[in-house]
Amino acid sequence: MMVTKSSHFVSELANSIQPSGIRRFFDLASQMEDVVSLGVGEPDFTTPWNIIEASYHSLEQGYTAYTSNAGLFSLRREICRYLTKYDLDYNPEDEILVTVGASQAIDLVLRATIDRGDEVIIVNPGFVSYIPLIQMAGGKAVPLETKAENQFKPTPEQLEPLITAKTKAVFLCNPNNPTGTVLSRNDLEPIAQIVKDHDLLVYSDEIYAELIYEDDHVSTGALEGMKERTIIISGFSKAFAMTGWRLGYAVGPKEIIQAMLKIHQSSMMCASTMAQYAGLEALTGNSDNVKRMVRSYRQRRNYLVHQLNSMGLDCESPGGAFYLFPSIKKTGLSSEEFAERLLISEKVAVVPGSVFGESGEGYIRCSYATSMTQLEEASKRIQRFVENVE
Ligand code: PMP
Repeated sequence: MMVTKSSHFVSELANSIQPSGIRRFFDLASQMEDVVSLGVGEPDFTTPWNIIEASYHSLEQGYTAYTSNAGLFSLRREICRYLTKYDLDYNPEDEILVTVGASQAIDLVLRATIDRGDEVIIVNPGFVSYIPLIQMAGGKAVPLETKAENQFKPTPEQLEPLITAKTKAVFLCNPNNPTGTVLSRNDLEPIAQIVKDHDLLVYSDEIYAELIYEDDHVSTGALEGMKERTIIISGFSKAFAMTGWRLGYAVGPKEIIQAMLKIHQSSMMCASTMAQYAGLEALTGNSDNVKRMVRSYRQRRNYLVHQLNSMGLDCESPGGAFYLFPSIKKTGLSSEEFAERLLISEKVAVVPGSVFGESGEGYIRCSYATSMTQLEEASKRIQRFVENVE
């Protein structure tokens, strides 16, 4: 790192954080023209109009002040009602907290439950923010490296040996970013059993629950005996194409939610009021747009899976989220080399699997949250790249 006059002011903690590996690719891509991006993890759709309008309307009515720290009661009530579709039953009074994106919910739950030195088992390939947030909460991330032959699902045989006296929690992401893997009831139950046997917590990031293409979403909190040891993290970014609104939530045992609320009261006060009114409309208004987006993601997934396999990049058809995680092993390149050379020679942005942990090496993450025209163009370019790679 460059030493400047002010660098000694930066804390050891901040210095210890590794910048996101995805960022470097975005920076490179942003300096180039005519880039087709399969890199970003956000919907290409604009937020549905009825949601935008509800937010305008709230401003017109003068709802411009803070809300209650936990979030608008009406929004909390609607989120709890919405979650009943996943067999979840939470009290809007004290078992839910509305946050600034799922990101803040993750930060808060870690800070509210981790003591210095506690270990959190994370499932790799996994979402890039978990490790820095665990570190900043004083904990240590212990990776469970999944295997492609198990569709990147964590198995009980892999989980059990990682548990030590310091293990506090297991972090699950279902459906998963970056692999798109969906964990079924059969996958989750043996994991839940181990969690109960060892008296652990589960942080269950279910932000992609709505974007699921084959089976129904199974929430960890709905499994027998898990409600009291699960905090579910979710939000509006993905399902309702609302990344920029920064609206999320956590539901879980009252004691943990109230501990999170204490931190939230000082650090954030409340989520944006106009975003909360938008969220209320997202849950109570017409849901045709969500269905349309899911249909469109499914169609794009099917197209891109077919294209990647036909050019020899082995790719499963994952059941959720909007990512594919094809193998690039046959090219003989590392995932970093592949992504960098693909960007420079064909101007297609993908994310090297290695940024998501050791088990991501040999793979790339392709987001299909982009138009069919862009996907067609990307496929043409990737194919040319793969054919010409030495
Ligand atoms: N969890 C996962 C798995 C994600 O992919 C993302 C966004 N990329 C988040 C959480 C954060 O979402 P939000 O926009 O609600 O902060």
